[in-house]
Amino acid sequence: MNNIVKILQAKRNILLEEIKSAYYDYCHKEKMLNDKINKIDITLAKINEYMEPYICPKCKGTGVVKVCDAAGDTEEISYHTCRGTSLKVSEGK
Ligand SMILES: [Zn+2]
Repeated sequence: MNNIVKILQAKRNILLEEIKSAYYDYCHKEKMLNDKINKIDITLAKINEYMEPYICPKCKGTGVVKVCDAAGDTEEISYHTCRGTSLKVSEGK
């Protein structure tokens, strides 16, 4: 009986070590993925900052605007100043 208890305690300790190892791996992978996400966020912020002067101010770069139809329903259309390109267009003189 004493031997069975020792074996079970040893197995229990091994399982606890596996939990610690899995948690360490999880934390390491989470940090690695967050680092990659942060790099993408920084790149997107730079792109947005660079593109801001060229983005259509009416649709804010989405290429569509929401309008109300005769029935009062809202719909998205792309027929406006930028014609759905989402880029700022010179309206001419
Ligand atoms: Zn637009």
